Amino acid sequence: MLEVDLKERLVNIRERIKAAAGRAGREASEIKLIAVSKNHSIDKILALKKLGINFFGESRVQELREKNERLTGITWHFIGHLQRNKVKYLMRMENCQLIHSLDSWRLAREINKWARKNKRVMPVLLEVNVSGDENKFGLKPEDTLAFVEEAQSLKFVDLQGLMTIAPYVKDPEEVRPCFRQLVELREEIAAKGYQLKELSMGMTNDFEVAIEEGATMVRIGTGLFGKRDE
Ligand SMILES: *Cc1c(COP(=O)(O)O)cnc(C)c1O
Repeated sequence: MLEVDLKERLVNIRERIKAAAGRAGREASEIKLIAVSKNHSIDKILALKKLGINFFGESRVQELREKNERLTGITWHFIGHLQRNKVKYLMRMENCQLIHSLDSWRLAREINKWARKNKRVMPVLLEVNVSGDENKFGLKPEDTLAFVEEAQSLKFVDLQGLMTIAPYVKDPEEVRPCFRQLVELREEIAAKGYQLKELSMGMTNDFEVAIEEGATMVRIGTGLFGKRDE
């Protein structure tokens, strides 16, 4: 029963990704699906992996470490607010391949330090608080370009793109301007000579709008796994 439900939801999400991409004249293959597995069981993760999902997103380091010990062959993306004292654990996990949520200079320096110690260059995205919501982490849009310029000095941090979390609204059309602003920010940064290829934007409630606007990664939890307490 469980696997049937997961499969049905996955088929549904993939169809919607394809349709949204089509509306924007894009290919579905340009959009990476990150299955947000926070609060979901190992069994569900394994079942989704069997169905062909390659990337899983977690937002708490402790939960990620516990799951990682019990699983093999999983590629993780870290998507939550990252405390500096937890960076070392992520850097030791070779299969943690992207941090979506770089949101401060001190964190950037800590990632650089631990990446160097672990002889790796860590791919990261800059989280931008486009909506200006006080309860959200992320850089202010107007501070982002200066951050990108300064980050060039961090040899063990590979800045690959931008990420944002839109406010939850009933009608996702309302957050289209948020996504558009992130795209514009990337264009402004590109005009200064810094090409950031990835745009991580869109969750269960708003991923279709995000794809229409140019998302290259969508982070989907509930839409794939079902309700978290299920
Ligand atoms: C939980 C979470 C998601 C997934 O949210 P859903 O609404 O369940 O799809 C995406 N991104 C971040 C940063 C999250 O914390």
